[in-house]
Amino acid sequence: MLNQLSKKVADYLGLDEIPIEFGKIEDDSILITKGIPKIVINEKYNGNYLECAKSITHEYRHAFQIYWIAVMSDDPLAKIWKEELSRVVNTTTDEYECQAIEIDAFAFTQTYLGREGIQAYNEVKEEMYEYLLEQNAKKLQKSNSCTNFYIVLIYKCGL
Ligand SMILES: [Zn+2]
Repeated sequence: MLNQLSKKVADYLGLDEIPIEFGKIEDDSILITKGIPKIVINEKYNGNYLECAKSITHEYRHAFQIYWIAVMSDDPLAKIWKEELSRVVNTTTDEYECQAIEIDAFAFTQTYLGREGIQAYNEVKEEMYEYLLEQNAKKLQKSNSCTNFYIVLIYKCGL
């Protein structure tokens, strides 16, 4: 089942399939980009389809962001993603979830899995998005008005 989802998400985003494994990690999941790329899911989710589906979809979206940065270097959103991906932000902080790359990955997961009939996050999470979106919009207003549009678009459509 996980392999099937992995193939579908990869095809949807126009990416090669990324091997998936379980491991002892602190986060729910991570995308390893050094050497042969792979997605590592926290071993506590082994057998939990919902959590695995969320992890796979989320990490594939990060892989897509890296691809997008490479091919769309002049795109304002690609510039923000590039800057964020080059920084290491502690995953337990609010700043982490307010990053455009994370909002995009969560929004994509919610939308993509929603189309598959899977509700990734509940309403509380939706409210949180609104809050995060607002925070980001404030932060981004100074830099580029176009970016706000992208963020909203991604949030609404999960593009
Ligand atoms: Zn993430």
